[in-house]
Amino acid sequence: MMITYIGIGSNVGNRSGFCRDAVAALEESGGLKIEALSSLYETTPVGGPPQRSFINMVARAFTELEASALLKTCHMIERRLGREGSEIRWGPRVIDLDILLYGEESIDELGLLVPHPRMRERRFVLVPLLEIDPEVAGPDGVPYADSLPGAEGEVKLAEPFS
Ligand code: ADP
Ligand code: MG
Repeated sequence: MMITYIGIGSNVGNRSGFCRDAVAALEESGGLKIEALSSLYETTPVGGPPQRSFINMVARAFTELEASALLKTCHMIERRLGREGSEIRWGPRVIDLDILLYGEESIDELGLLVPHPRMRERRFVLVPLLEIDPEVAGPDGVPYADSLPGAEGEVKLAEPFS
């Protein structure tokens, strides 16, 4: 059993609705048991073209899936919720599911990097992550709270999850 943190984001259509649908889909996928959810945050886009602000959140779950299988589940849910395959990098998306952390593992496989390589620079990841788990640290032992002051973007609370 592994603890994993999944970053969820949307900046098209009913953004919170897509994030909530993604949580439901993760729960129904069978491979995960969600045990903590952050609030929903409205966040400024970091990287990519000028675009609408995002809604972002983070889920913590127990999983028996291998990391590669978990990524497949995330991709399947992204497609199911209407994400198109060919889109601009860091451009608008109905839903984005990122594996932020997978236990204490560092993974570098084809198409999968864990911890998510850009999470320390992104306030839209760090703020909801730290809401769930203020003490959480990477496989390097460095607490994510240490990265908050230098991270990019603005984040404000949009709504509680429930
Ligand atoms: P971002 O990584 O900034 O969210 P994208 O969602 O456009 O940008 O990147 C998509 C690709 O990133 C996916 O096709 C996936 O294979 C790859 N990827 C690498 N590591 C991860 C990870 N930890 N979680 C999710 N996707 C990842
Ligand atoms: Mg992604």
